[in-house]
Amino acid sequence: MYNVLIAKYGEIGVKGKNRYIFENKLIKNIRTMLKSIGEFNVYKEYGRIYIDVDDTNYKQVIEEVRKVFGIVGVSAAVKREKDYDILKETALYVLKHKIDEGKKSFKIASKRGDKSFKMTSQEMSIDIGGYVLKNINNPEVKVDVKNPDVVITCEYRNEHTLVYSDSVAGFGGLPLGTNGKAMTLLSGGIDSPVATWMVAKRGVDVEAVHFHSYPFTNMRSQEKVKELAKILSKYCGPIKLHMVNILDIQKEIAQKCNDEETTILSRRFMMRIAEKIGESRYCDALITGESIGQVASQTMQGIVCTNDSVKMPVFRPLIAEDKIDIIKTAEKIGTYETSIIPETDCCALFSPKKPVTKPRLEKIEKSESKLDVDALIEKAIEESVMEVISY
Ligand code: ATP
Ligand code: MG
Repeated sequence: MYNVLIAKYGEIGVKGKNRYIFENKLIKNIRTMLKSIGEFNVYKEYGRIYIDVDDTNYKQVIEEVRKVFGIVGVSAAVKREKDYDILKETALYVLKHKIDEGKKSFKIASKRGDKSFKMTSQEMSIDIGGYVLKNINNPEVKVDVKNPDVVITCEYRNEHTLVYSDSVAGFGGLPLGTNGKAMTLLSGGIDSPVATWMVAKRGVDVEAVHFHSYPFTNMRSQEKVKELAKILSKYCGPIKLHMVNILDIQKEIAQKCNDEETTILSRRFMMRIAEKIGESRYCDALITGESIGQVASQTMQGIVCTNDSVKMPVFRPLIAEDKIDIIKTAEKIGTYETSIIPETDCCALFSPKKPVTKPRLEKIEKSESKLDVDALIEKAIEESVMEVISY
């Protein structure tokens, strides 16, 4: 029955003359997203994006298209020739299917794209409503304009007619690739994948860096991060994941610095390394999953000390989020189940029994002066490996 999907987009509609750039990017991103399941005709017509489908594939295509950033909703529709009687017939046909699915009340919403058509959209709704009610001929099925089980939208457009009902919600945001690139610090935890997804949703391309302490941390913890990157790549496209071993840095810190400062100190190394790799990869910002007060290293003072180690802007989309809400997003985007697999993170290594919760920057800098920061960073980056992770 369904032969086309209507992909609705939100915010890009207000971008003035940049609009077409955003729309074209969106179409390109939809095509890319669909590549894994086949080649589809994706096209723009009068400020809307359509995807040709058939009954065998439309559900699967909706599932993919709704993940494309910038899409607010996807509706399966029946597109037929421009003929008012055909429009009425199609409305009846679609409603019958909805009744078979258990819907009892309905409302007809009409749109008249062709302004020269003899009826107003309100007249159309009344007329089509009467027609389908008569032909359904089922006393259990009623019109309900206030709170219907299903809304059947009928459009009489310049080129054709369209009938559709439900819309599957997308995530909104802006098309990927319309807002520069950022380097995300991706751990195996719950937060950083969510933070990455949130920034990418605003149209930002991402590359990722992960820090490990192999052989102290095992290969499984690296596999876990690759798996998270893979889930993210479903939304963000292929992700370049830089794996950096910081064991030597951690050892050096453990040897020369105060035990309670180790977490903050290694965090500053992570930030600097991410910034350096980010610069070489044309990234303009860093992303972390930090949230005020969540753990000892994320107190206000801790974040101040971490932040001071880099010049690049650091995006922390979770800064004011409660854990419970972060978890909800993680579940929604599909990273949660992987994030909670217990694996040792490099942070657990040499982690102080009593970490400093109110670090002072001058003190941290003094401790750091005992280390050859540049050389340690240089070596870690030199030995890092990059892998492209895709779905
Ligand atoms: P997450 O759930 O993201 O691991 P967390 O609550 O465990 O966060 P921390 O361990 O304090 O918080 O880390 C704060 C942020 O630092 C993380 O959100 C992430 O962006 C970054 N980070 C921490 N550990 C790593 C790592 N091993 N590799 C890359 N980034 C890391
Ligand atoms: Mg963590």
